Amino acid sequence: MTLRPMSCVDKRLKVQISIFNIHVVTYPCTSRRLKFIFGPCAVPALDLVDQRSVTRLRSPSGRILYQVLGSSGKLYTCYSSCHFCTCPAFGFSVLQKNESLLCKHILAVYLSRAMGACQELSVSEEQLANILLAEEEDEG
Ligand SMILES: [Zn+2]
Repeated sequence: MTLRPMSCVDKRLKVQISIFNIHVVTYPCTSRRLKFIFGPCAVPALDLVDQRSVTRLRSPSGRILYQVLGSSGKLYTCYSSCHFCTCPAFGFSVLQKNESLLCKHILAVYLSRAMGACQELSVSEEQLANILLAEEEDEG
């Protein structure tokens, strides 16, 4: 597979990601290294970063969650504090099959944070609660 050049990985950049107490550091953060470490998630995650698809929602009390606009146009909620994404791929590949450590959305969140590429959005506590409740309704 050939990797096309990515604008966001041309910079010398250190990315440190902790997943279940495993520290992953790539320096410089090249798409080839990310693909070696994270497998097929790496390139789609970099595409999401390039498209500025990651938004960090922050409430006045300091609660933070991330929303990632997926390639299908659907919005997924990611919790970096507990390493969870609401997408079907996370449920299947990570939780059920135990085939991978993460989905492209969670990786896009980690990369966007490291690169300072998150969109920022302030929300009220009520708005944040509504987002979390909507996720719960989707599951039920
Ligand atoms: Zn996901």
